[in-house]
Amino acid sequence: MRIDEARELFRQAIAARRLAHAYLLVGSPRGVAGELAIDLMQRLACLDPDKAPCKTCDRCRQVAARTWCDNLWVFPIKKSRVISIDQMRETAGSKVSPPYLLPWLSDTAFAGGWKVVVLAGADRLTNEAANAFLKMLEEPPPKTLILLLTDAPQALLPTIRSRCQRIDLDEPPAELDEPWRSGLLAILAAEGGTGPVGAMAAGDRIHKILLDMKEHAAKLVEAEIDTEQGGSTADDQDDDDDDPDPDAGEPADGRREGKAEDDKTVLEARVSARYRELRSLLLVSLQRWYRDLLALRAGAPTATIHYQSHLGLLQQRAQRLTLAQALANVEGVEMLARQMERSLSERNLLSYWMDRLAGGTA
Ligand SMILES: [Zn+2]
Repeated sequence: MRIDEARELFRQAIAARRLAHAYLLVGSPRGVAGELAIDLMQRLACLDPDKAPCKTCDRCRQVAARTWCDNLWVFPIKKSRVISIDQMRETAGSKVSPPYLLPWLSDTAFAGGWKVVVLAGADRLTNEAANAFLKMLEEPPPKTLILLLTDAPQALLPTIRSRCQRIDLDEPPAELDEPWRSGLLAILAAEGGTGPVGAMAAGDRIHKILLDMKEHAAKLVEAEIDTEQGGSTADDQDDDDDDPDPDAGEPADGRREGKAEDDKTVLEARVSARYRELRSLLLVSLQRWYRDLLALRAGAPTATIHYQSHLGLLQQRAQRLTLAQALANVEGVEMLARQMERSLSERNLLSYWMDRLAGGTA
């Protein structure tokens, strides 16, 4: 099913108090399955019951950053690429640091609400770990939710699979999945005639989209590298507390450090190139908005308008602009794009230009 259908399913299940205690989310743990898990966890933790998940409150942010105290993420260990018994409970001689899954789930929630554990790459559970986990999966404590994320459900033990409610997610085509575009249009639609303060806020909100794009670019590149190395997308690369770093404690070796430095530079260059690609898509969308206004102001046929969904609003706005202002706006957005290429501060540029662009409505 599509991710929005799955979200709706969870919304209804929570409203009806019929949430299962374990779900198997079939999809990429770094992609659609991870996204759905975060959305669900935000829904359970959000401070605003009317808007949950609001995505903006402290808790929603902490959930997204994987730092919320009542969520536990369990990833395969880097070196062995498995989720081992050492991550389930304290074992003698283990190098894995707590929290361990089983005692963590048995403790009461810190914040008194739901506790959620996520096994990202659940197909990597060793049989030993899976068997230790089985009883918990069958009878978890109340207000506890277990999410198993995998893109290889057939690799799970049948005893694990049968204890979860399974949700098969469609993978969105990577390039078409652009939720930021509707966000940008909402900002532009809300922005007219609110003066410099509104313009600055609009600039900040667009800047926020760019920050998300930066993160997204890093994830895309990570996933590409994983694929190139023949690894799994489930393996964690960055922020896993349970993860004993196999390189830690090795003696500093000049050659090795040099190699790591090179890798880091290459990685940064790739992420930065990817980010600029995404950013240029956003800038094109922004240009189209102001070109539409200019076209309407100049009396072009409405069929030539790019954002047909906002035609009425664009027509109203266009009538309040002089032709010179509409033209200056288009030139302004082009200038903004060129200045961003020259690496000037995105945030300052956006607040400067959003104010200038809004000038047409004063
Ligand atoms: Zn929230």
